[in-house]
Amino acid sequence: MNNTSTTPKKIVIAIDGFSSCGKSTFAKSIAAKLGYIFIDTGAMYRAVTLYALENEGIRNGIVDEEVIVRQLDEITITFRFNPRRGASDIYVNGDLVEGKIRTIEVSNFVSPVSSIREVREKLVAMQQEMGARRGVVMDGRDIGTVVFPDAELKIYMTADARVRAERRYAELQAKGESVSFDEVLENVVSRDKADMSRAISPLRQAEDAIVLDNSHMSVEEQMEWFEREFERVQRSLQA
Ligand code: C5P
Repeated sequence: MNNTSTTPKKIVIAIDGFSSCGKSTFAKSIAAKLGYIFIDTGAMYRAVTLYALENEGIRNGIVDEEVIVRQLDEITITFRFNPRRGASDIYVNGDLVEGKIRTIEVSNFVSPVSSIREVREKLVAMQQEMGARRGVVMDGRDIGTVVFPDAELKIYMTADARVRAERRYAELQAKGESVSFDEVLENVVSRDKADMSRAISPLRQAEDAIVLDNSHMSVEEQMEWFEREFERVQRSLQA
């Protein structure tokens, strides 16, 4: 995909944007194409939320910040590449939790958990460590603004809220989760609002990010768009 004569420089690709707009699918395809590491940072916030749900950090629908902050020292998050999925699975204290973190229950609590300062500090430090050698595609909400403000390519993804809810609904249906479309739409909209309005590291477009609205784009069209942008960045780095 690279037409430049010299070897492409390994860079950090930061992908931020709204929930369920296909960031992970897009990021995964890019990483596979470039031979980069792909890190889904949303999975890390979801893993902390799942742990809190299973260990009294969230009780009767109430998020107990103090308990969750204390629990952070008990949680070790690791990723292991799963060739069948073509992406890394997430483990908490050695237990595979990949299949348990995308339920509507976790989705309903992940925004308040991810707005806790100590949670963000711990996960951001881990993310910076994982991308320290570059050659990484990281997707989330604050990658281009906070985690890697010096990322060479920053993409801000967006899509129409109904389109996004339809995608997430289809995903949950395929997994056999019983949930209504309205519930999914409500979760998508309220999570966007919470993510954009929180005090620490809110979701916002970095000044130097380029926007990709994929409401009406196929995966192939998104990849073509990406290839042009990647080559533009490589040319500017080698100029
Ligand atoms: O990307 P995904 O929808 O799985 O992310 C789940 C939630 O994790 C988001 O709604 C947001 O509250 C939080 N998150 C975050 N910062 C990131 C990635 C995700 O706050 N970098």
